[in-house]
Amino acid sequence: MAVEQTLSIIKPDATRRNITGAINARLEEAGLRIVAQKRIRLGRDQAEAFYDVHKERPFYDSLCEFMTSGPVVVQVLEAENAVALNREVMGATNPADAAPGTIRADLAESLEANSVHGSDSPDNAAREVAFFFSDEEIVG
Ligand code: GDP
Repeated sequence: MAVEQTLSIIKPDATRRNITGAINARLEEAGLRIVAQKRIRLGRDQAEAFYDVHKERPFYDSLCEFMTSGPVVVQVLEAENAVALNREVMGATNPADAAPGTIRADLAESLEANSVHGSDSPDNAAREVAFFFSDEEIVG
């Protein structure tokens, strides 16, 4: 299995509760290396563009509102099989369905305010990493 990169976002519910370090510790303990990271405030246009794939979903407006409600930490994670590994560490979208010990099971507030984003495929990972980071910002 080749070394992969994936895009992670620590969402506003987590920055608000000051648990970005706790989340990073879980990522690192799982073997994911944080090879780029920045704390930013998403603009509405940026949030809408990032979640364009969900444009037709009933929760799109609310999701964009939530994602712009406070700072986020965007990060590039690197590991063998990083996309799937990060999804495993994150847990299911709905914290009520997430396996015990996952970030979402232990830390998420709700289905929407579920603390972390992670790319769901290598193709989306490449697109999402490029959405936030230039090559020079990623230091492996
Ligand atoms: P993910 O890949 O596990 O993040 O899940 P999705 O790509 O399906 O959804 C993107 C994000 O939209 C989720 O992480 C949640 O923050 C939010 N979301 C998903 N489903 C719902 C929903 O039914 N209602 C609301 N309010 N938000 C949702």
